[in-house]
Amino acid sequence: MVVAGRQKSVAFFIALGVGLISVILLLYIGWVILNWRNGILLVLSVLLVAMVISGLVLNTIFLVREIRRNEQHNAFINAVTHELKTPVASIRLYLETLQTRDVDEAKRQEFYGTMLEDSDRLLSTIEQILRTGRVGSATNKLNVAPVDLGGVVEDCLTRARTLHRVSPEALSYVAGPPVTILGDQEEVRAAVSNLIDNAVKYSGAEVNVRVETANVDGKYASVRVSDQGAGIPKAELKRIFKRFYRVPGPLASRVKGTGLGLYIVRSVAKRHGGLAWAESQGPGRGSTFVLQFPIVK
Ligand code: ADP
Repeated sequence: MVVAGRQKSVAFFIALGVGLISVILLLYIGWVILNWRNGILLVLSVLLVAMVISGLVLNTIFLVREIRRNEQHNAFINAVTHELKTPVASIRLYLETLQTRDVDEAKRQEFYGTMLEDSDRLLSTIEQILRTGRVGSATNKLNVAPVDLGGVVEDCLTRARTLHRVSPEALSYVAGPPVTILGDQEEVRAAVSNLIDNAVKYSGAEVNVRVETANVDGKYASVRVSDQGAGIPKAELKRIFKRFYRVPGPLASRVKGTGLGLYIVRSVAKRHGGLAWAESQGPGRGSTFVLQFPIVK
């Protein structure tokens, strides 16, 4: 419904822009045919028409972009509201049960475990939103120091295996030669963690994720995260790094998210003079994400 509404307004503004430009051109051509002898006026009018048409084109592009941005903000607010509300509602329900019923010790421990998981989920959503603000701001300086990339990857893997309850076989690590980069350890950790979390999240029930570190020609240190999961359509490989963007379709409603993770990954890569990109053979055929940082000489 909302997407259809947005497409209608985008189509309307594009049609309006094209219509107005055609009217101007028609009037102008008619006017030139009538006054072809007045040379200077002709030159002036060419400039004037060029200015008006450029103005209209810019205006149309701006309007269409604003409509798209607005739509993405709405999708983001819906996703974030859901991600914030669900764990709070769940924690509240468990607390009410504990307050009003006589719960045996085993059940009580189970409730505590679930409440801790919910509060972790809440914290990670909040952290993701705050980090988006930090990595997007040019004034926010990096806390630069030598970082052992392999060490950071191992920390992220240990955290992810506990968080998602997956075995070291399902989430494996192929370590390359040790590499040191100059960077902000917290930001690098956040970027690597986002890639690993996504690989597990979009793998479905059967997690088979492989993380590799490597030294690329002595210039870059790379982290490759490959999964055998949902895969990504070719046309979406670039878009997924945009802020708030989630690939539309049933996957987006099945797997919860805010569309901020990959924006953070790419912003962190850029802030460190590095690169981040995605590769996939298409839906259902898994994905590989690569993050590269310049190596310290
Ligand atoms: P989120 O996961 O919160 O939606 P991200 O910015 O991390 O946001 O990812 C953006 C989109 O890219 C996701 O909604 C998903 O459609 C796609 N995506 C990211 N990682 C993967 C992956 N490993 N496999 C398949 N699709 C992915």
